[in-house]
Amino acid sequence: MFQIKTATRYITVLIGLWFGTSVMATCQSSGLQLQVLGSGGPGASAGRGSSAYVLWLNGRSRILLDAGGGSKTLFHQSGASLGDTDLIAISHFHPDHSSGLPAILWPSGAEFTLAGPDGNEVFPSVERFTQLLFEQGGVFAILGDRLEYETVEVSTDGSTITEVWADSELNVTGIGVPHANVPTVGYRVDYGDLSIAFTSDQNGSNTQFIEFIRDVDFLVIHMIGSENATGLMADLHAKPSVWGQMATEAGAGHVVVSHFSRSNAVALDENLAILGANYDGPITVSEDLMCVDVR
Ligand SMILES: [Zn+2]
Repeated sequence: MFQIKTATRYITVLIGLWFGTSVMATCQSSGLQLQVLGSGGPGASAGRGSSAYVLWLNGRSRILLDAGGGSKTLFHQSGASLGDTDLIAISHFHPDHSSGLPAILWPSGAEFTLAGPDGNEVFPSVERFTQLLFEQGGVFAILGDRLEYETVEVSTDGSTITEVWADSELNVTGIGVPHANVPTVGYRVDYGDLSIAFTSDQNGSNTQFIEFIRDVDFLVIHMIGSENATGLMADLHAKPSVWGQMATEAGAGHVVVSHFSRSNAVALDENLAILGANYDGPITVSEDLMCVDVR
């Protein structure tokens, strides 16, 4: 039974990827669109960029979520513009989520709100991150005069919901997610009655995150773990079954799977089958520059 269901799910995943009405190669110029810039993970990613996403609203690249390695190239390939980007939201300060930011900002500079985690004794807060990079004495202080930004520190205590940024159309909130000792933020974006949430890297053990993402239309998960992971890997990354249970419990309308490394490419089929055995909704497997029509 499990095998039949697994096989059926896998076929559905493939059909969803190839023929799904909500997945396109290019973004529509109206409504809310999610563009995956980098679908790769921390390891060698077979040509994929590391974590980065653009949210387009009515043809404008309003929000950049994460800026991992390779995201400068993908940002420009997508046609996104810093002039249209009001919010840059970083999930955590692992290089595969944040090292591309100075490259994206160079040389034009930009004006934006920068959100990120509140830090701990090991990792900097988002404010400290900007001091170390852009302010006097910082590594890229050359960029300092070209940037106009304010930082928003998102609590990573796991229960506080931080109001990150909003305008008359979009509302962005954040909550801490468990990723070993790394202060990490999961973000949710609401647009009218539409919503999309980003889990970032996490082990899936924060039950308050389930409430935070309740009834989202789209849930972007980072499939880097495996079902038999133990130790640090299990503390860092959720098992495929946990992702499926999370999406089911939260009532997510659609799951977008991202963050693949070559090291787990062999396990991807197996991971997708386990995900599908724990979640009955549509599943889309990310590719760089892929667009999802949230509407
Ligand atoms: Zn990562």
